[in-house]
Amino acid sequence: MAAGARSWKPAWVPTSGCTRRPTMDEFDRAQELEALHLAASLAAQTAASRPLGASLAQCDDCGEPIPEARRQAAPGCTRCMDCQDRAEQRKRGGL
Ligand SMILES: [Zn+2]
Repeated sequence: MAAGARSWKPAWVPTSGCTRRPTMDEFDRAQELEALHLAASLAAQTAASRPLGASLAQCDDCGEPIPEARRQAAPGCTRCMDCQDRAEQRKRGGL
C-alpha cells in the first residue's frame, strides 16, 4: 500500500457554482425522459426476444399469405415482401 493513499484528496474541489439543486420541474422532466428511455428499451428487448421462426403465415398488413421461402429466409417476419418494403421505406422517411 502506498504511504500517501490515506491522505489522498481531489486536486480541485468545487467551492461554489455546483451547489444549485435541481428544481422540481427538472426532476419531473428527467423522470419523464427516464420513463421514455425505459419504455423504448423494453420495447426493443421485447422485439429482440421474439422467438425466431415464429413467422406469420399471412401478412400482417395486407393479409396475403407469406410464401414459405420468405418465412424461412426471414424468421420472425410478419409481412409479405411488398409490405415489408413499404414499411421500411416509411421508416426511412420516404413515402
Ligand atoms: Zn403484405
